[in-house]
Amino acid sequence: MISKEQQKELRRRLAGFLTEEKPLAAKTAFKVGGCAAFYLQPKSLPDLELVLRTLAELELKFLVLGAGCNILVADEGVLDRVVISLDQGFAEIEIMGSDSWSVMLRAESGVRLSRLIRLSADEGYSGFEKLASIPGTVGGALAMNAGAYGGTIYDSLAALQIMEKGSLSWRSAARLHPAYRDGGLSVEQVVVAAYFLLERKSSSEITATIKEIKELRQQRLPRGDHAGSVFKNPVGDFAGRLLDEAGCKGMRCGGASVSKEHANVIVADKGTQADDVLTLMENMRTLIRDRHGINLESEIRVFS
Ligand SMILES: Cc1cc2nc3c(=O)[nH]c(=O)nc-3n(C[C@H](O)[C@H](O)[C@H](O)COP(=O)(O)OP(=O)(O)OC[C@H]3O[C@@H](n4cnc5c(N)ncnc54)[C@H](O)[C@@H]3O)c2cc1C
Repeated sequence: MISKEQQKELRRRLAGFLTEEKPLAAKTAFKVGGCAAFYLQPKSLPDLELVLRTLAELELKFLVLGAGCNILVADEGVLDRVVISLDQGFAEIEIMGSDSWSVMLRAESGVRLSRLIRLSADEGYSGFEKLASIPGTVGGALAMNAGAYGGTIYDSLAALQIMEKGSLSWRSAARLHPAYRDGGLSVEQVVVAAYFLLERKSSSEITATIKEIKELRQQRLPRGDHAGSVFKNPVGDFAGRLLDEAGCKGMRCGGASVSKEHANVIVADKGTQADDVLTLMENMRTLIRDRHGINLESEIRVFS
């Protein structure tokens, strides 16, 4: 919980960026959950530096919000930490250098993956194709090590620009150790920008691959408000397969139900409570634990 003294200092020192009781539901893919008690929206690097330095000095925890595609906010909201949104500003894309074979592209953390995919198809930059149709921002994708069809955002990453307690630093991709659906960043590291080394290919070749991947995903992913896969795949198996076999499709709790098309996706109808989603997740997990002795690990990040 944020103490009275910390609240007072936050208001005094970060007045220009601070919103209180900011509703978060509309900022997440599930469209459920409560408010951020304290919400900050820095729009430039110096602003972010001031914000992170101040939070470090006040010993306050924070959560960075990207596009909210992999986040579930609890009904009571986020009370114990400050929420930082980077979706205003931090949206620049720049070509840093290129030759006939390759291109070095810098993308700031708030850039949408969909924009990178469009650009790579238009310009003939290969490396992002497998990310086609994964929603979210560059920062969120790096924090999550987002990927599909055997590829992830780290495949073409050359380096990261990270800010920690207000200090900017670099990490070459070789020094990073992303794991399955986990970029391995610490809670204090904020991705500011990423440098990608992309191969030049023909636009038509890239466009064809993207189209193929989009079609495959359209067949598999349900409509409605959801955050993609709920659980990570356990070693050697697929969470979706185990959940399907256990009869989870169609299971419901309040407004939340397991998709009939994909057993590892929870769809939230209008009026769903975050608690409905959490209870359903627990019921699914219990079924698999009882049947197989496997403890499914959440891919979705839950914040309260
Ligand atoms: C329809 C649908 C399909 C999906 N399919 C896939 C898929 O195929 N593969 C896959 O991997 N994922 C998939 N996802 C999940 C989601 O799209 C990815 O995890 C995505 O990378 C999240 O990006 P975001 O910007 O929305 O991050 P958020 O959900 O906002 O945040 C996710 C995590 O990243 C952290 N974070 C965000 N920005 C930063 C930053 N700048 N610095 C540090 N940390 C940060 C947050 O604190 C949080 O812990 C899907 C989601 C949906 C809704």
